[in-house]
Amino acid sequence: MALKMGQSYKVAVIGAGTAGLLTARELQREGHRVTVFEKADKVGGTWLYSSQVESDPLGVDPNRLVVHSSLYRSLRTNLPRQGMSFLDYPFLKKEGGDDQRNFPGHEEVLRFLEGFARDFGLMELIQFGHEVIRVELVDEVNHEWVVESKTRETDSTWESKEEVFEAVVICNGINTEPKIAEFPGRDTWPGLQMHSHSYRFPQVFENKIVVLIGSGPTAFDLVREISPLAKQLHQAIRTPGFMLIKPENYDNLWQHSMIACAHKDGKVEFQDGSVVDADVILHCTGYKYHYPFLKSDVVTVDGEYVGPLYKHVFPPSLAPWLSFVGLNYRAILFRVMELQARWVAKVLSGKAELPSQEEMTSSVEKLYSELEMTGRSKHHTHRLQNGEVEYVSWLAAQSDTRLPRRWEEISFNTVVKQRSVSLTEKNPSPDSPILYRTSWVFTTVSSYKFYIKRNGTG
Ligand code: FAD
Repeated sequence: MALKMGQSYKVAVIGAGTAGLLTARELQREGHRVTVFEKADKVGGTWLYSSQVESDPLGVDPNRLVVHSSLYRSLRTNLPRQGMSFLDYPFLKKEGGDDQRNFPGHEEVLRFLEGFARDFGLMELIQFGHEVIRVELVDEVNHEWVVESKTRETDSTWESKEEVFEAVVICNGINTEPKIAEFPGRDTWPGLQMHSHSYRFPQVFENKIVVLIGSGPTAFDLVREISPLAKQLHQAIRTPGFMLIKPENYDNLWQHSMIACAHKDGKVEFQDGSVVDADVILHCTGYKYHYPFLKSDVVTVDGEYVGPLYKHVFPPSLAPWLSFVGLNYRAILFRVMELQARWVAKVLSGKAELPSQEEMTSSVEKLYSELEMTGRSKHHTHRLQNGEVEYVSWLAAQSDTRLPRRWEEISFNTVVKQRSVSLTEKNPSPDSPILYRTSWVFTTVSSYKFYIKRNGTG
């Protein structure tokens, strides 16, 4: 299924975070007419730190005030700069810049994204302060999509407008709608419960007995940050033994199996039989896929996955007029998003071809049956990890992109392996030299210099 080569379409991009900016750049390069809708008044998405937290710290009240970013104040990247560079726009240390670290703070990532948006002329494409409230296919034959957005008029009034596009790319992020742990007694437990989405700094846990649920990257960071202040820290983990942190290095940390029950008197009971009298339960339990604006009978969004999507991007029966960029996790995400964005743009301009609808559908069904056969739930649909290298190579081939030499040396699995070597100590050096591969630096920097020479941008 190939479109006419060189055709220019009117395309809406929803969100101006990393995925939206990359998508806007690739679409623009291919000559499409792009409008980016962004509800915030700046680019950056997740990397736009806000000290504000939601009115419901657990994030279950549908009428709560929603804060987009889940960053905490101290957050530093968990990848080296090379792992967050774009193919022709590396994330370099700026001479005399404020943050010279290889694993910089979140402010530095925001500066990188702002520079990227400016250098590629993307700011002019963005309608800031426009929250998309409806995306709907109104004419199937001519693939006309209505995008309705609202802007704030005054403190209490909003104005909405509709615009028609030929294609829509959804890039609204996957780390805003909290997913919380289920256990009996959760809703009547009297202490403070919050999701890591509303965590900003550890002072609120001073002298408290804290139960922290989870063992992902956020749980890992927060255990290290909360432990010095809390009276006791009890971590509930689904797979006991799977944790980078060694409890023996922390004199107030205990690891348990999951919560069995929370009692009205404040006690929390774990499945291993232990009981603590806790003050706070902190859910570091991830996020749900969430597209309240998408009016479609074709695409299912149940929080755990989005589908059916061919290669995580195109719903077969709506391709290529609707696409998603940035749904994956457990991968070097910036690289995956860049290649997905490039693929979408090239498919729309007829330079990359999609298989037939039937072939796309059977590819999705194959993925679902693989998940089922290996006993993994749909929650794992967009998790890459072991399939990352193959998927990235495949995406690059679709968009005729040459990846830097030895790019596979930085993948989710290699980074995790190296982190587990260097971070099991209580005060590890996040600038572990093991993560630095000169080959990667050289190939990225030289392709950047070549790019600047050719395009005069930088
Ligand atoms: P986002 O950055 O969330 O951007 C989505 C944008 O869409 C936002 O600007 C939002 O305002 C806008 N939007 C949403 N809904 C609407 C709407 N209805 N209308 C208009 N606009 C809308 N990745 C790494 O590579 N390295 C790290 O170290 C790292 N650390 C992380 C730490 C935390 C705590 C979290 C939560 C994530 C981390 N990530 C990290 C993953 C990170 O989220 C991705 O790297 C990336 O920023 C996601 O980009 P995105 O554009 O998909 O989504």
